[in-house]
Order: sequence, then structure tokens, then C-alpha cells
Amino acid sequence: MHDIIVVGAGPAGLTAAIYAVRANKKVLVLEALACGGQIINTSHIDNYPVAPHITGADFGKTLQKQAEDLGVEIEYDEVTHITPIEGGFKVESEDEEYSAKSVILATGTSPRKLGLENEDSFIGKGISYCATCDGGFYKGKTVAVNGGGNSALHEALYLSGICDKVYLIHRRDEFRADAALVDKVKTKDNIELVLNANITKLNGEKHLESIETDNGHTLNVSGLFVAIGRIPNAAGLVDGLELTDDYVASGEDCKTNIPGLFVAGDVRTKELRQLVTATSDGAIAATAAIDFTHE
Ligand code: NAP
Repeated sequence: MHDIIVVGAGPAGLTAAIYAVRANKKVLVLEALACGGQIINTSHIDNYPVAPHITGADFGKTLQKQAEDLGVEIEYDEVTHITPIEGGFKVESEDEEYSAKSVILATGTSPRKLGLENEDSFIGKGISYCATCDGGFYKGKTVAVNGGGNSALHEALYLSGICDKVYLIHRRDEFRADAALVDKVKTKDNIELVLNANITKLNGEKHLESIETDNGHTLNVSGLFVAIGRIPNAAGLVDGLELTDDYVASGEDCKTNIPGLFVAGDVRTKELRQLVTATSDGAIAATAAIDFTHE
């Protein structure tokens, strides 16, 4: 049995693991995909202290190396269920079963989809949820970005440097994104705003060719980058776990309603989802989990 299992190797999970291993705990991190979490899709990070202009990919790699150098064990396995048992928790994946005295959930969020009929069939063939990952495939082409938050505007700016033209489609006429970003977008000649518009139809044979909106536009685009927010990865993971609007209900103490189960990062209820608040949660959740293993 491990002392602490951390589910998710993003900034919150890896920070938690670093704190726990430095407290001499036997720590296992279980990660479904790749270390680093959502931040590895960010081109540059400018708001994390003492790491100006670091790329998201370098941030993720450096954090993983730091954790592994300190002795954190990382396994690539997707956790499907967590069950409280006598003296701790059973953590299951499709093929394996792990156990620990305490568990920290740091599973983050996944991109929200448009929910259109043929959306899934165009993924990788015109539809993307990450401009930094896939923007390079659309060099010199016309693309669209959907959304009005910081992510959408960042994606539009990033793509405006690669693509011939970028339509920025938003359902309202005001942006949720920071004013500075909105101002920057407005200075770009190759970004065209399409406001008060919802995407209603995706057209194309094998690859996306055009999109239609509910205010009468048909836009010929090779790519559509969907940035309309994110969904917490918590549903169905733990029986009896209290959720609020699909996020794990928790305060700044990172405790859940289940003793010994802690939560860190974007997957929990919180005011501000940022890198710095995710790493902060990691430290808080680990400290609480360490104390719990002593009880
Ligand atoms: P977000 O702030 O929640 O914005 C989501 C956008 O998508 C909103 O403009 C929303 O429209 C729109 N939207 C939601 N559902 C939609 C639907 N079904 N159809 C069409 N449009 C829809 O999400 P985010 O941009 O991913 O950002 C998430 C968090 O990360 C935020 O706190 C953000 O500030 C932060 N972030 C920060 C940075 C940074 O550089 N500091 C960068 C990226 C993200 P409405 O506005 O009409 O609701």
C-alpha cells in the first residue's frame, strides 16, 4: 500500500507529489495521458513567478523531472474508480488495482465540446481544441476560433501569426477575456470578429470545409479551434463524492466530504483557475494528506 496516490500529473498533482515525497511518504502518481496537464498546450507562460516566458511544454517537462529526481513514482494508467476501504482507498484502472492510505484528486478539466452532430468525426480533420498543439497544420490557411474567454483570444492571437485569416466567433458582443487581450486582438488585421453567433453546422466531406452560424454566416475554413471553456474530470470517479456544478466541492483547505480524499487544482470549486493556484493547491492538499496518514 502507498501512503498517498495522486491522480493526475498536472501542476497541482506533481506539486502535491513533490511535497509528499519530501515528507518521506511513499507516493504514486497515476496519469492517464501525459505529465504537465493542460499547461503543456500553452505556448508561453508570462504570469508564473520567476519563470518568465517559459513555454508550457518546458514547464511540464521541468516539473516532471523535478518530481522524478526527488523520487516520485509516476505510472501511466487511467483511473476509473476510487473506493474508500478499511485503512484507506482502493484505486482502480481498467487492468490494475492500487491502494493508498490517502488520495489526492488532481484530474483537472477537459475541453467543452460544441455538441454538434458530426463534431467527433472532424476531430483531427479540421476540429481542434488546442491551437498550440495543432495550429502548425493550418499554416497559410483560413481558420476559425470559437469562444470569448482568455483561451479563445490567446488561440486567435497565436493562430493569427500562422494562418492567413482567423475568424473569432463569439456568442455575445462582449468578451469575457481580459481587456488587454481584447485590445490586442483588435489590432490584428487578419482576425475578423463574428459576434452574436453560435455555430450550428459543420460541413465537409472527409475534412472540415465550412461552418455555419445561427446569424446567417457560412464561413469557409480549414480548421475550427473550439475554446468554449472546460469540464471538470470528476463525474463518476468516487461514489458519494460531493460535487458542485460538476466540480469537486472543496474549500481552500482542499478537503472533500470524504475523509482522507483531498482535491487540488482546476477540478475543485474555486474562484481562480490558474497555474499558481493549482500549484498552491498541490502544496495544501499534500500537507493535509500527509497529516491524515499520521492520524
Ligand atoms: P471561460 O473563461 O469560461 O470562457 C469560455 C467562453 O466560451 C466564454 O466566452 C463563453 O461565452 C463561451 N462559451 C461557453 N459555452 C459556450 C457554448 N456552448 N457555445 C459557445 N460559446 C460558449 O474559459 P477559458 O477561456 O477556457 O478560460 C478558463 C479559465 O482559465 C479562465 O479563468 C481564464 O481566465 C483562465 N485562463 C487564463 C489565461 C491567462 O493568460 N491568464 C489564459 C487562458 C485561460 P460567454 O462569455 O457568453 O459565457
